[in-house]
Amino acid sequence: MSLPFFDDLPNLTERLVSAVHLDVFLDFDGTLAPLVEHPADASLPAVTRRLLEALATEPNVTLAIISGRAIDDVEHRLGIENIFYSGNHGHEIRDAALRFQAPIPASAQAAMRALAGTLTKRFQTTSGVLVEDKGPTISIHYRLAPEAEWPGIARMVQEDLKAAKHPFRITHGNKVYEIRASTECDKGTACRWLCEQIGQDALPIYVGDDATDEDAFAALPEGITVRVKPSGVTLATHHLDDQADVNRFLSWLAATVKRVGEPKTRVQSRPGQAGTSNAIANLL
Ligand SMILES: [Mg+2]
Repeated sequence: MSLPFFDDLPNLTERLVSAVHLDVFLDFDGTLAPLVEHPADASLPAVTRRLLEALATEPNVTLAIISGRAIDDVEHRLGIENIFYSGNHGHEIRDAALRFQAPIPASAQAAMRALAGTLTKRFQTTSGVLVEDKGPTISIHYRLAPEAEWPGIARMVQEDLKAAKHPFRITHGNKVYEIRASTECDKGTACRWLCEQIGQDALPIYVGDDATDEDAFAALPEGITVRVKPSGVTLATHHLDDQADVNRFLSWLAATVKRVGEPKTRVQSRPGQAGTSNAIANLL
């Protein structure tokens, strides 16, 4: 069972200060950005942006956004430099220097386009369902559909997936079905790839709000993993009460990261003393 994050601050502060480097992985929708009815309307709050920009300049931190959105979409919504972006559930990763693109056979790409076309046609007259063709993945959002229609929508998605006759993977997130071209890519594989590239024996930290973030929680057993909103079924070590607490988490992180790599003899971690530096307080 996960622990309430802010009840465990003395222990968490000590782990951070003892680390040599931090790899900080953050989901976008429902974590950095509040969930909205239409995915096109999601945006990064100004306070969150300032906190991320401050973290991105810290030499002891590598920052990565791990999203199910297409990589261009998520990068456009943040536009922060000197950080990694991963899109399409680990199919794409890049920063200014490094680049990963999951190899998808031509036959699978063709089958994905055909499936996206079938689903789009299928749901074009269903009110409240949005089919998003994102290249290596397809999202079927149904947040705006009447609840009575949700079982029927699930059945239709499964039918079309079965007819595609391809070993695509389907996952169920927060009012969204995700179909992926590669059965080997997920948010966990993205994090492991980044940990390997970054090196430095870093402490990984991951924050996410959805079922697809569980792959990352599972892939980072040595890390601090945080589920936004408590969940009965999670592999995360900790949880935040809700999305509004993410800024409080980022403030704590930005203040504490200044002490990463401090000699252990100087660690002064007392309950409730993780604190917020004046510099960070000014950002809020
Ligand atoms: Mg999310």
